[in-house]
Amino acid sequence: MERPAASLAGTVAWVTGSARGMGAAHALLLAERGADIVLQDVLKDEAAETAAAIAKLGRRVHVALADVSDVGAVKRVAAEAIAALGRIDILVNNAGIGQHKPVDEITEADYDRMMDIHVKGAFFCTQAVLPGMKERRWGKIVNISSIWGMTGAGINTASHYCGAKAALLGLTKAWAKELAPWNIHVNAVAPGGVLTEMPIKIQGWDKIREKEKRVPLGRWARPEEVSYAVAFLASHEADFITGQVLSPSGGETIVGI
Ligand code: NAD
Repeated sequence: MERPAASLAGTVAWVTGSARGMGAAHALLLAERGADIVLQDVLKDEAAETAAAIAKLGRRVHVALADVSDVGAVKRVAAEAIAALGRIDILVNNAGIGQHKPVDEITEADYDRMMDIHVKGAFFCTQAVLPGMKERRWGKIVNISSIWGMTGAGINTASHYCGAKAALLGLTKAWAKELAPWNIHVNAVAPGGVLTEMPIKIQGWDKIREKEKRVPLGRWARPEEVSYAVAFLASHEADFITGQVLSPSGGETIVGI
């Protein structure tokens, strides 16, 4: 007997950084499963393109061009999205940037930008969705961390990125405990290498092909392979799962390798 994928019909999902890359893949899969989408990003053209693809699936989409690290803007995005789509049931804290620099070359501005987008952004987006989730006594928050938040970056140099992604794991566990009484589930997804513009631009294909050899499954992920983890955690199928870290990384974090 074929079992259909868990339906998200009737829900509204806010995916930050969803104009392109993994965020766009998450938004499209959640839409395919029935969710209406709040698409937030700073990239206007890419946002319009992804919004059109979501609309083609027959879902409503609210586009918000706003920086996640701007707390005032985030509050406006949430209020306007709720006015447009009625509610927010699912929040995917995905917006992110990458930067490779040795620790002694990271400037205060580099550090602040990294923390502001990944940590402060996720923090205040989460704060903005809580009133509705608490009222309805159900909500899903999925924080996009990275294996580097658990392992460090090895031969790479991106300690501010690793620190920001580790902070998201701490927030995931703290929020999971704090928000459990309202039946709000908070989990993290910690991908390994994923073939998006971010690593291709920063690391280049030669380095990526080299790194793929160290992954037990022998390759990096396609964005949608991470989206399946997000969609599962956003669904009723994961209603007894909270405070957990799911790592679609081809086995890269198996201890002992
Ligand atoms: P990407 O660069 O393709 O996409 C990131 C998106 O976030 C872009 O659309 C970008 O415009 C948006 N964004 C950046 N700063 C923003 C801001 N201040 N406000 C709003 N939107 C903003 O990168 P990606 O690979 O799809 O990354 C998505 C997430 O996955 C990030 O959090 C990243 O750290 C994480 N991640 C990526 C990899 C990988 O190998 N690609 C691995 C682990 C984790």
